[in-house]
Amino acid sequence: MLSGRCRCGRVAWEASVSPFRSVLCHCADCRRSAGASPVGYLGFPKPVVRWTARRAFRATSPGVTRGACPDCGTFLSYMCTIWPGELYLHAATLDDPSGFVPEAHLNRAARDVEGAARGDGPSRREGRGRQISGATGPSSWRRPA
Ligand SMILES: [Zn+2]
Ligand SMILES: [Zn+2]
Repeated sequence: MLSGRCRCGRVAWEASVSPFRSVLCHCADCRRSAGASPVGYLGFPKPVVRWTARRAFRATSPGVTRGACPDCGTFLSYMCTIWPGELYLHAATLDDPSGFVPEAHLNRAARDVEGAARGDGPSRREGRGRQISGATGPSSWRRPA
């Protein structure tokens, strides 16, 4: 059983099965929505996640709906119309984040805060700005084969 909650504790979640995906996304949409980067996600079939309170939903980019605590504003969930029935939870909201082991980095070429601190990123490797402007969301996510 995995569980997590927002900063203030009003909205908590529980998942009864292991996630089918664990990823870190570096895209600009996730970075700006969370105010940090990269953003870790755990992917679940929507029905296995239980909530203690209603989230406030915001459409943050085409097809994308993010769920946040209506009180403290913590983003907890991500859904996209490309993957109906799937729910991605922010790994940073885990009660025990030490168990989060990302299996992949998404949109890694988009320069993020972590990469900037290391001095790497597309400004040196691939041309300044190109990757960032192309990374509008985790649209490069692919289901495992
Ligand atoms: Zn809250
Ligand atoms: Zn993203």
